Amino acid sequence: METKIVMPQLRYAADALAPVISEQTINFHYGKHLQAYVNNLNNLIPGTQWTEATLEEIAAKAEGGIGNNAGQVLNHALYFEQFAPKPAKTQPEGKLDEAIVKSFGSFEEMKSKMNAAASTLFGSGWAWLCAANDGDLSIMQMTNADNPLRHGLRPVLTFDVWEHAYYLDYQNRRPDYLAALWNIIDWQVIEARFEK
Ligand code: MN
Repeated sequence: METKIVMPQLRYAADALAPVISEQTINFHYGKHLQAYVNNLNNLIPGTQWTEATLEEIAAKAEGGIGNNAGQVLNHALYFEQFAPKPAKTQPEGKLDEAIVKSFGSFEEMKSKMNAAASTLFGSGWAWLCAANDGDLSIMQMTNADNPLRHGLRPVLTFDVWEHAYYLDYQNRRPDYLAALWNIIDWQVIEARFEK
């Protein structure tokens, strides 16, 4: 079956994450930036070796424009999916919590390392909490459209630090954006990714 990249759907209304992420930012970031990556990818795939591949396969292996647009579609799908206006769970429990304590010492220490990775990443990119096959967790900085699949790791949590993610709401104050993001993380989604 021919690959058709579909626009990920939001699990909340465009104004529901305010004031952490405003409706205006959702309308541009989700509605314009992500839609453009989806459209670009659908325009680039026909006639290439990727016509029957999954988004994950393309994001993990493709180079050039196809790899960049697939990475951005995958990364944004994970980013927008992990938020909820009123998260049912405000911190990790169970297996994910155990893995965080094993890899970082505590939840607070993991948060602090994630904030440091996201705030010091130079230029455009993503900070990630990633899982290895053995369940070990690590925090990584990745530039542009890079993603954990390209490094043999599974994506668990991600912070978009491209300026388009926060500039309308926070201007140059990237650390304020990062501090606020923790309030809308839906840990049920993050636990499900880790346990998958
Ligand atoms: Mn983005």
